[in-house]
Amino acid sequence: MEKAVQWDELVDVLVVGSGFAGLTAAIEAAELGKKVLVIEKMKRAGGNSIISDGGIAAPGTQLQADRGIVDSEKSMYDDMVTAGLGLNHPKLLRTLVSQARSAFEWTVDALQVPYLDRVDIFGGHSVARCYTPQGVTGATMLKRMLKRVAELSIPVLYSTSFRSILTDNQGRVLGGAVLREYDYRTNTGVPAKIRAQRGVILASGGYGADVAFRSIQDPRLDETIQTTNKVAATAEVLKSALHIGAASVQLSQIQLGAWASPDEQGFGHGPLFADYILFQYGVIVDPSTGRRFVNELGDRRQSADAILRIGHPCIGIADSRAVEHSGWDISRAIRKGVVKIHATMDELAASYGIDAATLQASISRYNGFVQDGADADLQKPMVDEASPIEEAPFYAMRLWPKVHFSMGGVAINERSQVLDFDGRTIKGLYAAGEVVGGVHGASRLGSCAISECVVFGRIAGQNV
Ligand SMILES: Cc1cc2nc3c(=O)[nH]c(=O)nc-3n(C[C@H](O)[C@H](O)[C@H](O)COP(=O)(O)OP(=O)(O)OC[C@H]3O[C@@H](n4cnc5c(N)ncnc54)[C@H](O)[C@@H]3O)c2cc1C
Repeated sequence: MEKAVQWDELVDVLVVGSGFAGLTAAIEAAELGKKVLVIEKMKRAGGNSIISDGGIAAPGTQLQADRGIVDSEKSMYDDMVTAGLGLNHPKLLRTLVSQARSAFEWTVDALQVPYLDRVDIFGGHSVARCYTPQGVTGATMLKRMLKRVAELSIPVLYSTSFRSILTDNQGRVLGGAVLREYDYRTNTGVPAKIRAQRGVILASGGYGADVAFRSIQDPRLDETIQTTNKVAATAEVLKSALHIGAASVQLSQIQLGAWASPDEQGFGHGPLFADYILFQYGVIVDPSTGRRFVNELGDRRQSADAILRIGHPCIGIADSRAVEHSGWDISRAIRKGVVKIHATMDELAASYGIDAATLQASISRYNGFVQDGADADLQKPMVDEASPIEEAPFYAMRLWPKVHFSMGGVAINERSQVLDFDGRTIKGLYAAGEVVGGVHGASRLGSCAISECVVFGRIAGQNV
C-alpha cells in the first residue's frame, strides 16, 4: 500500500545527478519513452565528469586495431583485478569489460563525441586502451550529452538536492524528498517530494570531497589531504540509500592520485605532465635520497601509497624528448610554475636539494634499463617509445597525492539494481557511476571510471 504522501511532481524516472552516469541513464530511459526528470543540487550540470580529462577505456576497438594493438576483454579484466587486489566484484567487472567497447562506440556514434587520434596507456593497464576526447576534458562529452538531453526534452532541475528515499510499507521505492532552491553553502532549500513511478536512479558521484565521511573510512584522509574533486562530491545520497537498507561495498577504498601537485589547488594542470608523460617516459625520485622507489607505471594505489610512505613530496623528472614525443601541450602547467624547466640535471638537483651525483647515478641506471627493455629494480614496463632521459632541458614537478576517486559505494547487480545486505534487490532503486561500489576493488585504473559511468548508466536507464 502506498503511504498517503502529498507529491509535488510525478514522473516515471527520477535521476539524481547530472554527471556522465546520470545523463547517460536519463538519455536511455527517455529514448525508451519514459518521462524522466534529472535533479542536480548545484547550479550547473556535470559534477566531477565535467572537470575530468574525459578519458575512457575499452578493449578491442578499431583505434587499437589500426595501430596493431592486441587487446581483449580478458586482458582488461585481468589488469583491473590486479590493481583491484582481487576485491572487484566479478559479475560487475565482467559486465564492464564486455560492454566497454559498445559504450565507447555509443559515445562516438550516438553522441558524436570527438576523440583525439591516439590511444594511450596509463599505469596498471598492460596495453594502450585509453581514448581522450578533444580538448582533454570531460566537458567535450558532457556538452554532447546535454545536447541529447535537450533534444529529448528531458528537464534538468538545478539547485535541487536529493535528501531521502521514500518507500511504501513493503520497502518499494516510491520517490524522493528533495530541497528545491538549494544552496550548498547553507545546506538549505524548500522541501518537496517527487514521485517516480518506475524508479529512482542514483548517479550522485563519489565522496572524495566529504572529509567527515571519507576520514571515517580511511583516517589518513583528513582535511590535510587535498582533493581533485568538486565540492559537490559528498555522501548524502549514498547515505540515504544506506538508511533504507542498501548494502555498502568497500567504502574505505578511496583512491589518491599520485600525479597531483601540492603547488596548485584541485586537479590543476600538473597531472597532464605527470600522468601522460612523466610516468611513461620519466622517473620519480625521493629528493632526500636521489633514488627511484616505485614503478612509475604502477597502479595509482602503489604510486600514491609509496609517496605517502616517503612522507614528503617527491620529484618527477622527464626530458625534453619525452615531452616533445608525447605531443601533449603542458604550457599551462609550466606557466603556473607547477612544472619547472631546468637547463641541466645538476641545476634540477640543486633546485630540489637533491644530491647531484646520486641523482645522475639513478638516471644513468634507469637509462640502462630503457636500453635493456627491462627495469631490473622496480619492474616498470617499458613502453615501445621509451628513450633514455638525456636530452636537455629537463622537466620536473613535485608530486603529493590528492583524494581522487571513491571505489566504494552502494551494492548493485549487473542490471544496476541496488541490493540490500541479503543480496535482494530494493525494488525501484537503481544506481550507476561513482556512487556504486565494487567494480574497481582496491584501486581504479585510469579511464575506467568513465567506462563504468556509460556502461552502467545505460544499463540503469534501460532497466528502470
Ligand atoms: C579531476 C578529475 C579528472 C578525472 N579524469 C578521469 C578520466 O580522464 N577518466 C576516467 O575514467 N575518470 C576520470 N575521473 C573520474 C571520473 O570523472 C568520475 O568518476 C566520473 O565522472 C563520475 O561520474 P558520475 O556521473 O558518477 O558523478 P559526477 O560526475 O560527480 O556527477 C554527480 C552529480 O551528482 C550531483 N549530486 C551529488 N549529490 C546530490 C544530491 N544530494 N542531490 C542532487 N544532486 C547531487 C553532483 O553535484 C554531481 O553533479 C576524474 C575525476 C576527477 C575529479
